Amino acid sequence: MEELQNFLEIFKEPILQFFAWMAVLYILASVFVDRRIAFWISSLGTTYLWLKSQDPRVVFRAWAIIGSVLFLLAFFKYLFNLNLLLFLKGKKRCPMCCEEARRKAKVCPYCGYSFAPKEEECK
Ligand SMILES: [Zn+2]
Repeated sequence: MEELQNFLEIFKEPILQFFAWMAVLYILASVFVDRRIAFWISSLGTTYLWLKSQDPRVVFRAWAIIGSVLFLLAFFKYLFNLNLLLFLKGKKRCPMCCEEARRKAKVCPYCGYSFAPKEEECK
C-alpha cells in the first residue's frame, strides 16, 4: 500500500498533471480530429485551460521542457541529419515511398527500394 501511496504522491506534482492532461487531450485529438495537429491542439489546449484556473508558473516550466525537447530533435535533425524519433524506434525512412523501414533492412518492405549497402557491413 505504501508504494502505491508514494506513486500517487508523484501525481500531486503540478508539472506531471499538466503533461497528463496534455496526453489525454493528445489522445482525444488524435482520435477525433487529426494526428498531425494533435500535438498543437493538446499543448495549446492544456496551456489555455491551465492559465484559466491554475498556477501560470507551471505552464512556463512545462513549455521550457517542451521547448528543450523540440530543440533537441531539431538539433539532431539539422546537425547530424538524424531523425531522433526514428532512430530510437530502430527505423529509417525510405527515400522512395517515405515509409518507415527497419534500420538494418536492405530492401524497403513497402516499395522494394534497395538501400545503398554500407561499407562496414562487408567486414
Ligand atoms: Zn519504400
